Amino acid sequence: MSVAVSSKLNKTVREQYLKLPQDGKVQVTYVWIDGTGEGLRCKTKTLDSEPRTIKDIPEWNFDGSSTFQAEGSNSDMFLIPVRMFRDPFLLDPNKLILCEVLKYNRKPAESNLRHTCNEAMDKAKDAHPWFGLEQEYTLLGIDRHPYGWPQNGFPGPQGPYYCGVGADKVYGRDIVEAHYKACLYAGVKISGTNAEVMPSQWEYQVGPCEGIEMGDHLWIARYILHRICEDFGVVATFDPKPITGNWNGAGCHANFSTEAMRKKGGLQYIEEAIEKLSKRHAYHIRVYDPKGGLDNSRRLTGQHETSNIHDFSAGVANRGASIRIPRQVGQDHCGYFEDRRPAANCDPYAVTEALIRTCVLNETEN
Ligand code: ADP
Ligand code: MN
Ligand code: MN
Ligand code: MN
Repeated sequence: MSVAVSSKLNKTVREQYLKLPQDGKVQVTYVWIDGTGEGLRCKTKTLDSEPRTIKDIPEWNFDGSSTFQAEGSNSDMFLIPVRMFRDPFLLDPNKLILCEVLKYNRKPAESNLRHTCNEAMDKAKDAHPWFGLEQEYTLLGIDRHPYGWPQNGFPGPQGPYYCGVGADKVYGRDIVEAHYKACLYAGVKISGTNAEVMPSQWEYQVGPCEGIEMGDHLWIARYILHRICEDFGVVATFDPKPITGNWNGAGCHANFSTEAMRKKGGLQYIEEAIEKLSKRHAYHIRVYDPKGGLDNSRRLTGQHETSNIHDFSAGVANRGASIRIPRQVGQDHCGYFEDRRPAANCDPYAVTEALIRTCVLNETEN
């Protein structure tokens, strides 16, 4: 397993420059999703004063022919600022700006799944939909070998690693802790973290978030994770089944509730939503990974705490079902449910939009 060269540059020397005063100027880093629907890109510009709200951030553009987003002959794409966070790398007053991407004709780029998600969230806003996403990921060296795994062979079988403690149980906690702090600093609604079942696999949770906020916060949390991994010289992958065989895959469980579900007697509305979901399994599977179900077919085998990709199922406390009602929710008769199907590399805009269309807007087509 090898670590990237840049991570070995002298960080103490770097500190001298990062400490320099910036005389009222502000570095603003624009972040956007590229044409793969999974990769993130960023670039930075200087503003003359500190922006107070997202409305103070100017539109910008980039060369879409270099991000799998446009032909070279018509390559200018627009960056539309949508949410502002504090920059945990360059620190205050510098900012991270999540952007939507529009094409030359100001129509959403193919990779811009936020646009239709936002329309659905608008229509459903009176239901006050809340989401909480559990982002699983795996740490790799830059040679893509799992971080901390023996160069030849495998670690011992799964069992001791989930929520593990000890140098022989978990690998890379520095990254996990740095990411947690950086998300809190940035203003991301990160709600927790834990070591996962496969060694070098971790999870963080973001939420509860209302409506479109969910996708925005999850994407910036992913950006922060990739940047921190850059500093440490390793790579975070969201591949839903990074290691074949008897190793858990990586998901992005979607926890969901409406105001009615959260109130006394809300279990009835949870059960109604599950009934609607049962009739649209194929549609959900199609949008729960960026390749129309192909990536998830490696993960949703019916083993390793997953349901089979071809079947829909639901149950209280059942981690082998498509939908799990947490035990506490079963007891309280209100709360939320968990859709365990989304892959770790899903687009959270696609996942939250599908849940809203099926469970709140009662759409039944496709
Ligand atoms: P698990 O037991 O599946 O590992 P986690 O504790 O990792 O559960 O994640 C639970 C997620 O559910 C968190 O992201 C949390 O924000 C979210 N959550 C809690 N309450 C609600 C709710 N009422 N509606 C939607 N999401 C919720
Ligand atoms: Mn979890
Ligand atoms: Mn998990
Ligand atoms: Mn879960």
